[in-house]
Amino acid sequence: MTLPARRGLDAIPTYRQGRPAAPGASKLSSNESPHPPLPSVIDAVRERIETIHRYPNMAAPEIIGRLAERYGVDAAQVTVGAGSVELAAQLIHAVAGEGDEVIFAWRSFEAYPSLVRIAGATPVQVPLDADHRHDLDAMLAAITPQTRLIFVCNPNNPTGTVVGPAELEAFVAAVPRDILVVIDEAYVHFDRSEYFDDAHAGAGIHLLHRYPHVAVLHTFSKAYGLAGLRIGYAIAPREIADSQRKVAIPFGVTDLAQTAAVASLDAEDELRERIAEVVTQRERLVSVLQDAGWPAVASEANFVWVPAGERAIELDELLQAGDVVVRTFPGDGVRISSGSQEDIDRVERALAASTVSSTTAEEARA
Ligand SMILES: *Cc1c(COP(=O)(O)O)cnc(C)c1O
Repeated sequence: MTLPARRGLDAIPTYRQGRPAAPGASKLSSNESPHPPLPSVIDAVRERIETIHRYPNMAAPEIIGRLAERYGVDAAQVTVGAGSVELAAQLIHAVAGEGDEVIFAWRSFEAYPSLVRIAGATPVQVPLDADHRHDLDAMLAAITPQTRLIFVCNPNNPTGTVVGPAELEAFVAAVPRDILVVIDEAYVHFDRSEYFDDAHAGAGIHLLHRYPHVAVLHTFSKAYGLAGLRIGYAIAPREIADSQRKVAIPFGVTDLAQTAAVASLDAEDELRERIAEVVTQRERLVSVLQDAGWPAVASEANFVWVPAGERAIELDELLQAGDVVVRTFPGDGVRISSGSQEDIDRVERALAASTVSSTTAEEARA
């Protein structure tokens, strides 16, 4: 006799990590930073390692103080988690349970459907529009008396598209005030559209100051290059942040992660150069793909979406043959992270190899 799982668990898929890459191959499957950690961040973590026999400080006062000051919010509104994915879970648990609905676009961040179901709530997926963008009107139309939370992933993972500040504000203004709008800005630092502002604030922060039902998620995993240490933050209405502290698993964020986050804020000028490099390679990646005949979508994130449909596997295999590992959604598309110059050189060679081989095939037929 096997031990029964909790009712409903069978319907929840296990989160799949981007595929690992063989040593020497380009790992463009998880939207990580292609750059190794900054020396100043490594030094700070190294110094802190002496204290790992102690539990971390759950109040995370230094990083939370810095973030509260930066965004002009009360420190009690700021929470840190083991990556912003943990905070997404906390926000759901804070407002939704059995019988409640959580709306988000689809396709969007892979973790949303599972996190919602784990909380016992019901995911309501609203298809992206023909341009792979959030269909905010359709999302408004999906609101019911059961709706408790709406995610807006901006820029959207995996499509890299954004909704502009005016559109987003009109949406937030139209959502009833007893529904929490969570603006997930994991990739905001790579956004070069009108949505972006130089303080790396993003439109979410501005809205949070003006509306009582907005929360924002940011992470140190992507632009700041700390994916392996696990730290992100949420800024939420005070009462929501209080509820998050109730549902949080104690000691989720290590002192090493807190220290690295503070050191990263201190090194933002250096990080800005790295972000600019990733943006440059992203633009190149779009051109390389389009020049090879693949339908790459213009992106404001650190990855590029190729809605290759039935040819998704073909593109995946082509890249894999060129030692490039990507994230593939069979029958839908391929997401390729913007890597280093060498990584994108490799993508270019892999795609050129196919052009050459199909040309050779055509010549052979001729
Ligand atoms: C990567 C990602 C996150 C969070 O990543 P963490 O490493 O948990 O901070 C959150 N939202 C989206 C859309 C992401 O792609």
